[in-house]
Parts: sequence; C-alpha cells; structure tokens
Amino acid sequence: MNLRLLKPKLLETGTARLTGDLCEIEQSHAGPGAGGAGSVFFSDGETRIRLSVDEESPVEIRCFGNDLAELKSGDICISGFIEPVGWHCPKQAYITISEGCIFGCRFCNVPKQKGRIKSPDLIERMVDAVADRIECISLTSGVMGSPKEDEKRVIEVIKRLQRFEIPIGVSIYPAEGTPERLFELGVSEVKFNLETATENLFKEICPGPEREEIWEALNRSVELFGKNRVFSNVILGLGETDEEMKSCIRELCRMGIIPVIRPLTPSGSLLDYKRPSAERILKISEFLKEELVKNGLDNSRALTMCTKCTGCDLVPGRDL
Ligand code: SF4
Repeated sequence: MNLRLLKPKLLETGTARLTGDLCEIEQSHAGPGAGGAGSVFFSDGETRIRLSVDEESPVEIRCFGNDLAELKSGDICISGFIEPVGWHCPKQAYITISEGCIFGCRFCNVPKQKGRIKSPDLIERMVDAVADRIECISLTSGVMGSPKEDEKRVIEVIKRLQRFEIPIGVSIYPAEGTPERLFELGVSEVKFNLETATENLFKEICPGPEREEIWEALNRSVELFGKNRVFSNVILGLGETDEEMKSCIRELCRMGIIPVIRPLTPSGSLLDYKRPSAERILKISEFLKEELVKNGLDNSRALTMCTKCTGCDLVPGRDL
C-alpha cells in the first residue's frame, strides 16, 4: 500500500498523533487548520497529505529526526518524511493578509481570529525569509472593512512581491472588477470560492456574501486568465447530496473552472458535523476526474495555491 491509495482514508480521519523526535508543526491562519493545534505535511515522495495534530488520533506519525518519518494506520505502515513548509505549506509562501473577516461562514475559524492585518513590509520580509525554498507565492485574506478595501491591501502586497519573479496566485472575496485588476497586475491564477454545492446551502452556511458575485467573478476570470488558471473551493460534507455536488462540479468544469473539492474539517460552528467518508471522497473525486478530462482541464498544470499543494484534497491528475 502506498500513500496515494491510503489518502482517501487519511482524509476521512484528518488527523495524526506525533510520536518520536520533534518535527516541524505548521500553525495556520487560513485553510482547514486555521487557529487549531497545528498540522504536519507527510509525504512518501510522490503523494502529500496534511494532517491536523491530535493526540487522540488513530493515525500515528513517528518522527526519526532529519524529517524522516513513518505513518501508521491500522496494519499499514508507510515510510516517508515530514515536509518543511515555506509559509503555511511546502514550497509556497501562502500568506493570509487580513486575519479576520466581516462575514461569518459557519465552517470558518478566521472571523474568530484577532483581526491582525499584515503590512506589505512584513509580508515582503516573510517572503524574503523563505525565498530559497519556495516555487510560488499564494495570497489569501479574510474580509476586513469591505471586499474593496481588502482588495486594495492585496494589490499593494502584490506590487511589492513582483520582484521575486515567481508565480503569484490570489484567493480573495471578489469585488466588482477584481478579476480585471488582478489580471492587469500579472497575477498567474485566481481562486474565488463557492464554498457550497448549492445556493440554498450557501444561504444557510455563509450569511453575508453574495454567491452570484462569486459566479460572475469566476466567469469573467476564465475569459481573462484562461482555462486551468481559475479555481473554486467547494466543501464536501455540508449536507449536499452526491447529485448536488456532481451538478456543481459539472457546471464549474463546463465553464472552464477547476473545482477544488475540499473534505469538510468540522470547525467554526459546525463542530458537530462529520468529515465525509473515504468512499464518498473517492467517488466524488473520480467523477471530478471525468469532468476535468471531458472539459480539457488539467490539475497538474497548477502553479500556485491548493491545487499545486494537494495537502488537503484528493486531487485528480495528481492523486488519482
Ligand atoms: S491544500 Fe490548500 S489549504 Fe490545504 S494545506 Fe495546501 S495550500 Fe493549505
């Protein structure tokens, strides 16, 4: 058994307990681990998975020093290593600019954070500090003030970071004209997150943002950035049926947008929800694979953000 075959099961569990030597634990301000006990990136050299650290986890990662490690799940044991991160994930400086949010998406911990806004100076220093071990820069942000205000901060940061001459990906809540402004700045890829498979679930889980604005930004982005450069996170496990998830995937792919199907990490006010099963993660990812191929989309070309990282998802073209 290799890590690729075990990945759906590990995504269902989502956690690991660390034993042996100390190893690098990442503390996130965005993504599924935001504000938690930290996480580790385990790899066997081909496949990568991000697991939240939890002393009660049935999955064990034994660390041997020098990043070497072994992952044990039931009778299965896989040799590999703990990957060092740039910022937030391996080989990237994935930075959250505003660590707070005026919206209240129920799965998200960002609104509960202290609301610090990182200055362009600080972010430039952060990227400088890891420049020798990253291949791209990814920027995200909660919404502090308004989407327009936040976009201005992001644009200021992008201008500072262009001197590194590596691809920059941006995932923010879009205002009117955001895709155009990011495209003119030379951003490589954008991700605007639909978050839920259906409009009704969006109203229930994400009070505040307008789903229609996100669809419009995605549509416009494909015209500007082209196929394989526009992404959207959709969370699996918020109460949608398989048919609803498939219909959302079909629609995104038909429009030239790559869906990032993210197994739910119960957090925020959804702590009593369950992570989706390995079988469901695999079934939906196989459907996604077919739709990507049918529409000429290719995950392996991603330059930035989650589809390049693959830590939290089963990514067709990379993991299956
Ligand atoms: S897949 Fe995305 S959210 Fe998950 S660790 Fe990688 S960059 Fe972060």
